[in-house]
Amino acid sequence: MKAVAVQRGETEPTLINIPQPTPNDGEVLVRTLRVGIDGTDHEVISGPHGGYPEGADYQILGHEAVGVVVDPTTTKFSEGDLVVRTVRRPPESGSTLYFDRDEPDMAPGGDYVERGIVGAHGYMSEYFTSPERFLVPVPESLAVYGFLVEPISNAEKAIEHAFAARSDFEWTPESGFVLGNGPLGLLALAILEQDRGVYGRFDRTYCLGRRDEPDLTIDIIRRLGSTYVDSRETPLTEMPGVHEPVDFVFEATGYARHVFETVDTLAPNGVAVLLGISEDWSFGIDGGRLHREMVLENKALIGSVNSHVDHFEAAKESLSAFPHWFIDDLITGVHAPEEASRAFETGDDIIKTVVEFDTL
Ligand code: NAP
Ligand code: BGC
Ligand code: ZN
Repeated sequence: MKAVAVQRGETEPTLINIPQPTPNDGEVLVRTLRVGIDGTDHEVISGPHGGYPEGADYQILGHEAVGVVVDPTTTKFSEGDLVVRTVRRPPESGSTLYFDRDEPDMAPGGDYVERGIVGAHGYMSEYFTSPERFLVPVPESLAVYGFLVEPISNAEKAIEHAFAARSDFEWTPESGFVLGNGPLGLLALAILEQDRGVYGRFDRTYCLGRRDEPDLTIDIIRRLGSTYVDSRETPLTEMPGVHEPVDFVFEATGYARHVFETVDTLAPNGVAVLLGISEDWSFGIDGGRLHREMVLENKALIGSVNSHVDHFEAAKESLSAFPHWFIDDLITGVHAPEEASRAFETGDDIIKTVVEFDTL
């Protein structure tokens, strides 16, 4: 079967041919429909994040997939069910404590592999197998866009953890600020623009980028009802003076300075959740002032990675509620596996690309 992989020592995806996997009892064989690409995939092929499966000279890419069950073996699934799958799996050796608790997203490094990212093959192949517990059923209406459930679930987890960090007092956030206009930032912004039930809805949202107009992402930001902030004109440290101090920050730039500058952007009692994955970068900060500011103003900074089944369930709801125009504008390219290198191109007119193996 066809698969899209990166060969050890290379930084471009290539099409390879590998045997179709056979599911064991308790596993499901899935025919892949679509696999999305995000900033992490670019970090995996260019080297700063992730790692090859042990002993392998290539890694199959892809961690955002939707597919159809073709062989459910002894599982609860039936042939024809549509599924998306979670990313983390237990390691060959190491603790499975967090998997046993159904919280693999909270496992420390070394106690998991991530399919398509860290130490395991991904889903960018015509078929893949998965244990039942790592598959989440989705309705047929998500056959085309279901690959977005995984990235949305990462945002759902992050927002949930941030709000949980403010749950011990009466917190009434009015403003939210997404840092980054890549796919993760835009998906998070679309979530923040929704009525979040118990979480309510932000009165005002902002989204940070560093692009000149006209630009597709700025159009999306505005159409979602949000205000575009250009970091070249308004650094985070000046956000409170130019717009306002914000109650909630969702960081999705991977730009390490934002971790610290966010402290100045936050309003008292505010919370920022950090998702971007940076390369090593040393720079100077006034740590004493930031420390004082966080303590005296009850500010919170938290990191968040990955997600699990409950977050996938929340993501299914969000995705189903997103406006159709938003999804259409977000997906800027659908490519056959043979054109995988085009799917991995970057540019200002590219937001989210997809490799399509098959249709329903
Ligand atoms: P992406 O496509 O690389 O998006 C990052 C965006 O941030 C880009 O649009 C970039 O703008 C913008 N940006 C970077 N530095 C900036 C700055 N100084 N000022 C303003 N804008 C800036 O990646 P993504 O897929 O959206 O993901 C974002 C980050 O989150 C990545 O590091 C990814 O690995 C990570 N991630 C983490 C999780 C998790 O669970 N923690 C989940 C998914 C992704 P330009 O395009 O104009 O350069
Ligand atoms: C993936 C997550 C993963 C994270 C860190 C993200 O792009 O969607 O599942 O945990 O990268 O590797
Ligand atoms: Zn991802």
